[in-house]
Amino acid sequence: MNNRTEEQQDSPTEERCTNEKYITISVDDGHPLDLRTAELLDKYGLKGTFYIPGLNDERTLMTPSQMREIDRQFEVGSHCLNHVRLTWMPVERSWREISDGKKFSEDALGHEVISFCYPGGKFNERIESQVKKAGFLSARTCRYFLYDFPEDPFRWGVSVYANTYPSYVQVRHALMERNFQGCYNYLTTFRAQTRWGAQFQYALEKVSSKGGVAHLYLHSWEIDENREWDELERVFKAIRQYSLTPVTNGYLSRLWHEKQALLSVPIPA
Ligand SMILES: [Zn+2]
Repeated sequence: MNNRTEEQQDSPTEERCTNEKYITISVDDGHPLDLRTAELLDKYGLKGTFYIPGLNDERTLMTPSQMREIDRQFEVGSHCLNHVRLTWMPVERSWREISDGKKFSEDALGHEVISFCYPGGKFNERIESQVKKAGFLSARTCRYFLYDFPEDPFRWGVSVYANTYPSYVQVRHALMERNFQGCYNYLTTFRAQTRWGAQFQYALEKVSSKGGVAHLYLHSWEIDENREWDELERVFKAIRQYSLTPVTNGYLSRLWHEKQALLSVPIPA
């Protein structure tokens, strides 16, 4: 396994180009079982970003002190103030959800929060521009079966969602999300595989040979409900067979912005 840690990569530079090989994990919703996922990530030397809302009517939420515990070792990103679907609400309310959510996380952690995740993966151009205006550097979506270094950090997709669905559901979801690249990849690279553990193996192989980002997204409460802790550990263990660099989502978004800044520097005559 490549043992470079994120601490050793504090200033991403030009030579870390798009054909580098990264592994990152997203854990959404801030359930207290995320602490169990954090232990497993630590056991296998992995990095990840935990997207935690300020409040969540749908299920149990960890306390601010548990958030800080996660933040000591991993990245904490914002998932809105109330974990609500932003595209359904008036412009002033979505702005409050995004900006107050950022303030909530930053007050709880005592430092800047740069990564955002759209609740339910729902976004449009208005929401995207509000996320940028609030000062985030990236926003993660629910577009699956992607493994290339993203072109747009505010439409950041993942390789695999850790839950198993029939192939037709995956295809339908990709089309509804206008994720045509992911739909194509699902039918080719991922061979329309239904089991998420096997899907992620394909992502690891692809990134290992061609470069890019193998990105697994999960809900700890869902892993628990599906009794898949052993499967999650098997997948984390399998990652060690590949020479991929473990990073947080935020590391990759900083890298994206640094590369853009370098590209915009005029070449001396
Ligand atoms: Zn969520």
